[in-house]
Amino acid sequence: MRPEAKTIHKVNYNILESLKKSGSPIIIYALPQEAEAVAYACKDEGIKVAAFCDNEKRKSKRLYCGLEVIHTPNLPERFPKARVIIAHQNLTDSSDQLMQLGYDDVYSPLELLKNFDVMKYDYNQAKVTKSYMATKIEISKKNHALFFDDSKTFLRSIDVMITTKCSMNCESCANLMQYYKAAENTDNEILKSLEVLNSNVDDILEFRIIGGEPLMNKKWCEIANSILDQNPNRTVFIYTNGTIAPTDKQLETFSGKDVNFYITDYGKLSRNIEKMINVLKKHKISFSRKPADNWVDCASIRKHNRPVSRLKQVFKECCAKQLYTLLNGKLFTCPFIANARNLKAIPDNKADYVDLLSGDTNIKSKIRKLVKMNNFFPGCDFCDGRPHDPTKATEYAGRGLIKAAKQIPISESLSFKKY
Ligand code: SF4
Ligand code: SF4
Repeated sequence: MRPEAKTIHKVNYNILESLKKSGSPIIIYALPQEAEAVAYACKDEGIKVAAFCDNEKRKSKRLYCGLEVIHTPNLPERFPKARVIIAHQNLTDSSDQLMQLGYDDVYSPLELLKNFDVMKYDYNQAKVTKSYMATKIEISKKNHALFFDDSKTFLRSIDVMITTKCSMNCESCANLMQYYKAAENTDNEILKSLEVLNSNVDDILEFRIIGGEPLMNKKWCEIANSILDQNPNRTVFIYTNGTIAPTDKQLETFSGKDVNFYITDYGKLSRNIEKMINVLKKHKISFSRKPADNWVDCASIRKHNRPVSRLKQVFKECCAKQLYTLLNGKLFTCPFIANARNLKAIPDNKADYVDLLSGDTNIKSKIRKLVKMNNFFPGCDFCDGRPHDPTKATEYAGRGLIKAAKQIPISESLSFKKY
């Protein structure tokens, strides 16, 4: 998949030729798990990285791979001139921010990663297995290659919601599980919806099985396997809170398949996390274990009545707008709109989603419109916003950073206005 253009949205493809020359300091932009591999790839090519930057201020308090992490808005003070490698998956938003900060020497790591031997290193910073990082780097390469071809419609990931049940009840769950009175499995017609979606886009890079807690749906393993039966080249991630350990019998069915676990570690609440990790190791299934840390509060549902200009800004600042979500046969841009609509906590507005099972002949262009959206969706007016950095976002209306996973009794649910 060779990019046709060498520069798109002002992001350069030819990183090796440019960064091996002496010049301004080299910065790696953002700390997704892949950033550690990008740093090692630079090392292998003799490219000296000066620092990392990230929009989450709390990440600037610690060194990453032994290097300083600068809060991105402060980057120009520290490095007025820099050459920047984008490790983040959203290259358009990342390059826009860098241009606004005054940087025009911006690169995709794609060329750098092409010959990188990912299995050569341990990933202690990202806390992932080598095979998990290998999967993430393959996805990252595809994502960056597709970015250089604007004719393509692709989803970096699809969150396949299989249940609204959860084994925890977090007061500020960003997926809005705390509002469900009668939680239920939502696995009807998943395969049919995915078939429609798949045949109307150029690529879907990750299939994420989520809930709630997906392992609360007794058919979670069967669903993961049937998604892979549709196309064995797919990559599946199971997003779990570590409360329910999979069985040997379930994990045996994933042998030779690209199934990965993304485990959020909620400390004592993740009561079966060690058991889960032991059984994953036993079956050589790759996983990532990530502490819950703090959250950006973004779980209130209330109408803001923002004018268009402010809605555009909320959407621009949002870090979740490409968390494409499949729920009950409909494709949404994010889990907030998907679940708020499912709960009837926002009006049913057809501009908020694509009904994959409608039989509409125009479905391809509707999906492209949703994926390429750069204005906002009507549902965004009910959301407080979900910025990377709540202290710098101008339209964010939530409480800022909050302690993760404050629990409410499992039998209780939060009230909301119905439409
Ligand atoms: S563990 Fe908490 S944050 Fe995760 S889905 Fe359940 S309620 Fe939501
Ligand atoms: S701002 Fe809009 S796109 Fe972002 S999470 Fe809220 S509703 Fe979703």
